[in-house]
Amino acid sequence: MINAVIFGPPGAGKGTQSDKLIKKFGFVHISTGDLFRWHTKNDTPLGKKVKEIMNSGALVPDEITIAMLKEELDKNPQAKGFLFDGFPRTVPQAEALDKFMKENGSAIHHIIALEVSEAELRARIAKRRGIENRADDEEEKLNRRITEYFGKTIHVLPYYKNQGRLHVINGVGAIDDIFGNICKVIEGK
Ligand code: ADP
Repeated sequence: MINAVIFGPPGAGKGTQSDKLIKKFGFVHISTGDLFRWHTKNDTPLGKKVKEIMNSGALVPDEITIAMLKEELDKNPQAKGFLFDGFPRTVPQAEALDKFMKENGSAIHHIIALEVSEAELRARIAKRRGIENRADDEEEKLNRRITEYFGKTIHVLPYYKNQGRLHVINGVGAIDDIFGNICKVIEGK
């Protein structure tokens, strides 16, 4: 069983690459952003709790996010492997993930960090705004998301780097070339 994390700032291409990775390797995809969006759309008690936070572009508190993640893991005991997308976003989340994996006799094998400059991220999201209409893609909220990334989430990288599990991949270029580079990591080439 191979478990991987796809990591990167908003607009780095995590969603695009995740779709391709799931098809190729049969991962169970766990995207905390998608899960939170599902809860807000369906107006669940959790959705009610996180809606305002998400729409502001801020991170949802660790306690809520980690509990939701654990629930998803428990729903998929037969998974061949997990691809975590948008999780972990803080060091406590990374520690919780390692703990959960260990409890199941497993581990996170690869952390794939997509590297994209801030200017490129902004340009991509401006383009996406016209297509997807995500409430948190508006300029001011996007600024908050980028600040959250560079203020909090980026500290997850040294956590993994120190353990030798980090693979930094250039996230700028043709989608298939980026995908090829990610596959090499997962296939151990
Ligand atoms: P992005 O395009 O910023 O990568 P996502 O779809 O992954 O967006 O997440 C959207 C929002 O959901 C985040 O801005 C945040 O409010 C919330 N969220 C998603 N994952 C997490 C997480 N691991 N920890 C805290 N908040 C999260």
